[in-house]
Amino acid sequence: MTDRARKPATSGTTLRCRGWRQEGLLRLLENVLAVGEDPENLIVYAALGKAARDWASHDAIVAALKTIEDGETLLVQSGRPIGVLKTHPGAPVVIMANCNIVGQWAKAEVFYELEKKGLIVWGGLTAGDWQYIGSQGVIQGTYEIFMRVAARLGVTDLAGKFVLTAGLGGMGGSQPLAGRMANAAILCVEVDETRIRRRMEIGYLEHHAPDLETALRLIRAAQAEKRPISVGLLGNAADVYPEILARGIVPDVVTDQTSAHDLVYGYVPSGFSLGEVRALRTSDPERLMAASTASIVRHVRAMLGFHHAGAVVFDNGNLIRTQAQRGGVADAFDIPIFTEAFLRPLFAQAIGPFRWICLSGDPADQARIDELVLSLFPDDRSIQTWIGLARKHIPIEGLPARIAWLGHGARTELALAVNRLVANGELRAPVAFTRDHLDAGAMAHPNIMTERMKDGSDAIADWPLLNAMLMASSKADLVAVHSGGGGYAGYMTSAGVTLVADGSAEAETRLRVALTNDTALGILRYADAGYEESFAAAERAGMTARLVE
Ligand code: NAD
Repeated sequence: MTDRARKPATSGTTLRCRGWRQEGLLRLLENVLAVGEDPENLIVYAALGKAARDWASHDAIVAALKTIEDGETLLVQSGRPIGVLKTHPGAPVVIMANCNIVGQWAKAEVFYELEKKGLIVWGGLTAGDWQYIGSQGVIQGTYEIFMRVAARLGVTDLAGKFVLTAGLGGMGGSQPLAGRMANAAILCVEVDETRIRRRMEIGYLEHHAPDLETALRLIRAAQAEKRPISVGLLGNAADVYPEILARGIVPDVVTDQTSAHDLVYGYVPSGFSLGEVRALRTSDPERLMAASTASIVRHVRAMLGFHHAGAVVFDNGNLIRTQAQRGGVADAFDIPIFTEAFLRPLFAQAIGPFRWICLSGDPADQARIDELVLSLFPDDRSIQTWIGLARKHIPIEGLPARIAWLGHGARTELALAVNRLVANGELRAPVAFTRDHLDAGAMAHPNIMTERMKDGSDAIADWPLLNAMLMASSKADLVAVHSGGGGYAGYMTSAGVTLVADGSAEAETRLRVALTNDTALGILRYADAGYEESFAAAERAGMTARLVE
């Protein structure tokens, strides 16, 4: 153990900074490392997604957060603090730009070269801007997808259904628990045994099967009894998927969350041990990329085989189809993307993955906010069901946090009510609010978030840039612009925002303005693309959805 090893984020009520805005952001930085995949190397999730450029940068960020005052802003460029400038008390405490490479240069080789020189880092969506809350961060999204799959199959949930997936990393680790919450029998193939153990330790995965036979037996028995079960299997998805297909077994649902976006540091090709892969990363990355591509081709061909055999197959946001298509699988995009297939009507209303983190570290604060959510939205069946399920199934990981898919108006209403609870002492300490970058107005990603938009605006990155500028103009506490995606270059641009509800009148203004504008932009973005749901949402909110017809 080094002093850089995993340690919990600071909790309690003692301030180390000049105020809770700074203290809140510092605790979030600590928290992403506390719940991240490889904290000693500052890696949070998504293969190389980092919280800071290096340890010197990390320490300088911590020192800056401890000293800056309201009216000063810390600037971070790809995980490295580059200065503190005088702004004004309504300005963000931190602004960031992570992994943005100019268009013609935005290629994997350029990224890896710049990364090797220590000039850039991949911030993921929520690693570089300290918003990651562990595997639970995407759990409701995965659960909502599974429930929509059930609806498509004409059933109320996935009881008795077999879900096959792979990848038990930072985000993929949410799959076994989300599957169980949807009552499925879910098999997760993972090539790294330590990841299987970690998901079991934190309560996300129930079983570790020693071989495929045992895994399938466990799945079949649970299916027959319509009993939920989650089973991890050590193996390479590029071998196991074709093997299951060759046996004539067709799962009801197939997806994948290996780190296929990264052919060097993420995806592990078949036929190589983890040690061999680690060595090749520096000795022969080209060979590794070729081997990963060849494996992904087999992996995706098996997924297409399941698709043609009648399974519901979808890409869960890891760019596996894109990599397979590059490797010669011409029909890889016959597999739909989860956003378009299942979630777009929600995004079109700016309903998306909203999150809060209790900076006190006290589970009682989380429980009080759960109660608050239930009382604020009594008629929202989906939120009532979700909070019930989350309380029952989701273990606390790091600072107590919750994700809930809320939309325009609801996010602001909740945050303002929480701010009042902080003010009147009903919560022990302030609460941070944030959301995934994968949110209505905040991301352009033509192979994930914005694939096949109604008006063809898939690749236009103006929206996330507008979002970041709007958040900085709307008094948010932290605003970030990220780019990257596959090979960390050229696939997406997104924006992140964080606010700290410290119970003050200033926080009330910041929360009202920033959270309302954030979702308002989401509605405007989808209305601009012609989605009916957005016009209805705009009307409900009293907004003009289109200034120009
Ligand atoms: P991670 O790097 O923490 O974990 C990836 C896991 O895949 C690792 O445990 C690795 O051992 C395993 N793996 C790699 N190759 C494998 C193979 N051939 N067979 C079996 N297992 C293999 O990444 P993560 O944070 O879990 O993210 C996974 C992917 O999902 C990434 O591509 C990420 O960009 C994407 N993602 C999607 C969403 C979304 O909204 N749907 C959200 C976050 C991340």
